[in-house]
Amino acid sequence: MNKYCKYFGIRNSTSSIFIALCFMVGLLLPAGCEQNPLIYKNTRPLMGTYVTITVLADSRKQAEEAIDAGFLEVERLEAMLSLWRPDSELSRLNATAFDRPVEVSRDLIDISRKSLEIARLTDGAFDPTIGPLVRLWNVTKSKAPPDPEEVERARLLVDYRNIDIKGRTIRFLKKGITFDPGGIAKGYTADRVVAVLKGMGIKSGIVAVAGDIKVFGGGVGEKDDPWRVGIQDPRGDGLIASVELTDGAISTSGDYERYFIFKGMRYHHLLDPATGYPAYGLQGVSVMHEQGVSCDGLATGLFVLGLERAKKKMEEMNLAGMIVTSSGEIYVSTAARRHIELN
Ligand code: ADP
Ligand code: MG
Repeated sequence: MNKYCKYFGIRNSTSSIFIALCFMVGLLLPAGCEQNPLIYKNTRPLMGTYVTITVLADSRKQAEEAIDAGFLEVERLEAMLSLWRPDSELSRLNATAFDRPVEVSRDLIDISRKSLEIARLTDGAFDPTIGPLVRLWNVTKSKAPPDPEEVERARLLVDYRNIDIKGRTIRFLKKGITFDPGGIAKGYTADRVVAVLKGMGIKSGIVAVAGDIKVFGGGVGEKDDPWRVGIQDPRGDGLIASVELTDGAISTSGDYERYFIFKGMRYHHLLDPATGYPAYGLQGVSVMHEQGVSCDGLATGLFVLGLERAKKKMEEMNLAGMIVTSSGEIYVSTAARRHIELN
């Protein structure tokens, strides 16, 4: 099973046949072709994860062209937002924006503005200047937590209020501040890819960048059903819930994809800027919203806020979401109750 399969599944709800997404890497396949030959999908490893684009199309040619254009858009954003490539627009921003405004592309300004908005909405639990802590913890490679003094030093370089945006320019107000869009970039990408698919004349589809999923148009199967998206059980291989979506996005942030275990404790990649340590108390948070970018940032931020504060925020914002606590209890927000079907 690859990582992607563990994340979510899509079902053609007319047939209730689960569309297996696992073995499709690199292939353009009509999905569930016995029921509906007009659903096509393809999966590629991009952005350090798997990206799957599924479309309803009139012909294989139309599907192929649209899906290729969608993947090109992912590649474009990946090249722009890479923290590892020194020549990416983001790396150049991080290297030069201390105390001097740097003009950036429309994508980078949009994603930065959105990040600050989510940071404010989550009282700083989502913080796009988290980079120094992410690098220090390096959870995919580390075997033990870092030294507490180093954690504290890195934490002092995390504060979104040191990002100053004016017009198309970004400036960092403190030395060592950097922009890390890791908690929001996948949702933004899903939104952009959907815009590209629509521009190619596609009326219905799903773009999934790991657990950040954007859906548009329904019309699946004989009854014109919505798309159905499954939410992965954070501690198992199955799905704990599913939602039907026609237009909108859903993101899930969890502690079960990138982590290491040290002395029986799980240290994962969602870091609390208030402590410098992985956020404690939850296994997963899913958020539904019109925009993928908002879902992605909010899922990360609400995960960090923990059960009580995340519940309160969801209710205050009338946000549709679901929380799975460390003991496996499930909370579904009021706005999500008529959408989410628990298994
Ligand atoms: P996933 O990568 O599992 O889809 P997320 O969307 O929740 O998860 O994003 C995780 C990434 O977000 C981390 O790898 C890191 O780059 C960044 N991140 C971690 N903690 C925070 C935080 N408190 N605020 C903003 N970004 C964060
Ligand atoms: Mg996120």
